[in-house]
Amino acid sequence: MSVLLGCIADDFTGATDLANTLVKEGMRVIQIIGVPAPGTIPDDVDALVVALKSRSIRAGQAVALSLAALQRLREAGARQILFKYCSTFDSTDDGNIGPVAEALAQALGAGVSVVCPAFPETGRTVYNGHLFVGDRLLHESGMENHPLNPMRDADLVRVLSAQTKTAVGLVPYADVHRGARAIRARLRSLAQAGTRFAVVDATLDEHLREIAVAIADAPLITGGSGIALGLPANFERAGHFERRADAGELPQAGGSAVVLSGSCSKATRTQIRAYCGDHPARRIDVLALARDFDAEVGCVCSWFDGQASAAAPLIYTSDEPQAVAAVQESLGREAAGLLAERAMAAIALHVVERGVRRMVIAGGETAGAVVEALGVDALRIGAQIAPGVPWTVSLGGRPIALALKSGNFGAEDFFAAALGA
Ligand code: ADP
Repeated sequence: MSVLLGCIADDFTGATDLANTLVKEGMRVIQIIGVPAPGTIPDDVDALVVALKSRSIRAGQAVALSLAALQRLREAGARQILFKYCSTFDSTDDGNIGPVAEALAQALGAGVSVVCPAFPETGRTVYNGHLFVGDRLLHESGMENHPLNPMRDADLVRVLSAQTKTAVGLVPYADVHRGARAIRARLRSLAQAGTRFAVVDATLDEHLREIAVAIADAPLITGGSGIALGLPANFERAGHFERRADAGELPQAGGSAVVLSGSCSKATRTQIRAYCGDHPARRIDVLALARDFDAEVGCVCSWFDGQASAAAPLIYTSDEPQAVAAVQESLGREAAGLLAERAMAAIALHVVERGVRRMVIAGGETAGAVVEALGVDALRIGAQIAPGVPWTVSLGGRPIALALKSGNFGAEDFFAAALGA
């Protein structure tokens, strides 16, 4: 058996979100961190998601990484490629969505490829080619103030046209509403007119499933996690795959548990308060790290060693906005962040030495730092804990179960719920 669907995601938590969607639809999924080395892809898997960090790097570099990932996915046998970007279309005039999509389309000899960031479950819908976040147009949703990729135009045909050399068209709502045949007919006529990319309207999951039927044979699909909803059913109809009830089953990791948090977002701070009520918790002082890194990390590690093995303690740098601002004022924003991440990485290594095999980690950057320190390069994706956050288990010698949560995800009891799942 070889891989059916090969996915290239432009960031880490976006990749996990996509993998989570595919597992819910019955596929066995592995997420690989960075371009996989040749010959490292396991064969008991239906979909592979390569997580790149290519959203905000130079366009040329993003293209090179994406083409390298494509090469590996084709070697693994992938029949269809999904280029996954954010459902808020995070990009600039230079890219990277347009240049990467163009390069992949050319390498795959694709005719017309859909552009479908809609993800109704999270309020992202597309109507007349305009992207909405809830009831706001993209450029009035707060995304216009994004520090890296400010989105100042909701008209995706115009946004993508500025990023590509080829014509961009639209599959309008009226076609999508009529279903797969009408969508296919519109795509065919756009292809005949020389259009290479087609933004597709969608406001409901039903639309995404109809679009998926219409593009069952397309070599390349581009979009958010939403467009993945209908893809497993295509492979099933073609007789290549049977949906598995056990797709999200993971090997038992055993061992003890810990919660690490470097996320300072509102949701995480609420989760920390809830968890502290009935679990041992130790806050790391970032200013103390700046004064004597080894001493502070050593103190935290000794504290951890004194806890009962079943206690599942929480260790966190997370703090209230005013305190974070004060630390940033004194150390610089980047230096403060790096210190906190380095401390979490060192502590993660220590606790794994002491037998921890289950980790809940809050914070996208924090999770990235810990995963890198632990030398994890691939994850098998398990069942969902909260929308967008699955349990995962690292592949390789020493399996570690990891629940990686980016800032605003999860309800108040997320940490306990994750460990109880
Ligand atoms: P989120 O997913 O909530 O954005 P991240 O881990 O991605 O969380 O980002 C949080 C950033 O804040 C990280 O770089 C982390 O190291 C940094 N950080 C954590 N705690 C503190 C603190 N007390 N003071 C300053 N920076 C901090």
